[in-house]
Amino acid sequence: MSQNRRSLRFSHSTCPVCGSNEVARDDLKGDLLCTNCGHIINRGETRAVGKFDIAQHLRREGKLTFPKLLEVTGASEDKLFGVLQSMVEMGLIEELQSSYQMTKRGLRWYRQRLGQEYGY
Ligand SMILES: [Zn+2]
Repeated sequence: MSQNRRSLRFSHSTCPVCGSNEVARDDLKGDLLCTNCGHIINRGETRAVGKFDIAQHLRREGKLTFPKLLEVTGASEDKLFGVLQSMVEMGLIEELQSSYQMTKRGLRWYRQRLGQEYGY
């Protein structure tokens, strides 16, 4: 048997897909990997959130606080914070009184992306 090159340590989790408890932690990425079926269990099993997702919510609601964005996107704090940071850096959104809202540039970007989504 060959040694796995990545360092895997078995954790006490159960795989949500196959029910196996041969679930190992991938130290490289911090994810959990089921060694039985290969399913990767992300920390917290939260779904990824995209810039477009966030823009859509902000467009609809005007402005949203971080906790509210967490709620509507279902993302983990880490992921959401990362995306918000990059959107602020790109000038797409701004943070005002602990709420996030779209900038003019962000709205233009959003309309452009919306056009691409629907193919016109
Ligand atoms: Zn599994």
